[in-house]
Amino acid sequence: MQPLDELPVRDDLRGQQPYGAPQIDVPIRLNTNENPFAPPSGVSKAIGDSVQAAALNLNRYPDREATELRAALAGYVSSVSGPPVDWSGVWPANGSNEVLQQLLQAFGGTGRSALGFEPTYSMHRLICRGTGTHYHVAPRAPDFTIDEAAAVAAVRRHSPDVVFLCSPNNPTGNAVAVETVKAVYEAARGIVVVDEAYGEFSNRPSALSLLPGRTRLVVVRTMSKAFALAGARVGYAVGDPALVAALQLVRLPYHLSTITQAVALVALDRAPELLANVGVLRAQRDRIAAELGRLGYRILGSDGNFVFFEVGNERQVWQELLSHGVLVRDVGLPGYLRVTAGTPEETTEFLAVMQRITKESAS
Ligand SMILES: *Cc1c(COP(=O)(O)O)cnc(C)c1O
Repeated sequence: MQPLDELPVRDDLRGQQPYGAPQIDVPIRLNTNENPFAPPSGVSKAIGDSVQAAALNLNRYPDREATELRAALAGYVSSVSGPPVDWSGVWPANGSNEVLQQLLQAFGGTGRSALGFEPTYSMHRLICRGTGTHYHVAPRAPDFTIDEAAAVAAVRRHSPDVVFLCSPNNPTGNAVAVETVKAVYEAARGIVVVDEAYGEFSNRPSALSLLPGRTRLVVVRTMSKAFALAGARVGYAVGDPALVAALQLVRLPYHLSTITQAVALVALDRAPELLANVGVLRAQRDRIAAELGRLGYRILGSDGNFVFFEVGNERQVWQELLSHGVLVRDVGLPGYLRVTAGTPEETTEFLAVMQRITKESAS
């Protein structure tokens, strides 16, 4: 008997496992889609100076509305997508995971349901569990794309309060066509959440362009991936000001610390420097896809900063890579692995090990 079983924990949490991507200390970590490039030293210095200045105010609670940060995020979002957004249509929190949790607290919860197209980001299901929201699953097509007609039928059948679309999808790597987002939105009576954590890495149009006139649509983005800021914990929702106002009903007061707000403001101010490696990472992603293809592996989507590929015995390959100091992600889908685009050197090392494994298994 686990010690936890003796506690009066909620029935629906009994016997469940927490989110747990392994954090193993190995030379080459290509398993959580982090940006492998640390912020440049000029940016880290500017962050340090700003945090030092902010520390003089740490006796006070942070700006509860995070107005300055929201305006800066709105400026960034307006620069990447057509329709301009202002601060009232942006809502930041501690990582996009907290934004997703707030969305479910406001629009899901006990007696309500959400719909996801699996396989997809495991946290969508877990945050549903944590908020007591029933999670319906609709399958993807065999190539892991979302068929528009099938998606519309699933939305009609389940009539969920929340629909998740992940674009580019983690772990399968393919973006969702904006036409599909539109069709799902038309069919849904609840809110439609487009998780664009990897939006900056994709060449496909963002759902941000669909926001005007669609008050139940919300796009969730993060500074954890392209901005190389996973450790700072900053994600945000972009949507109708009324939808953003609904999130205020469930957010904890002062949820975003003075330190976090200061860090994020510097990062947005220095966005071109932080985003400078996006092109390098796209090139490494394309290189991985091309090289693995040459080695005979089937590549699924690669619109993010990672590649999803068919590998046969995924456990064995995962283990062999690890024994060479390369950590990739076994997402629990038999026959597949996911690998994050690393620095050019890390990518070279990963590909060299894959080449060796492939030759050994052929001989
Ligand atoms: C990495 C990732 C996130 C990011 O979560 P944060 O809490 O912002 O770090 C969100 N959604 C998806 C699909 C991801 O892969």
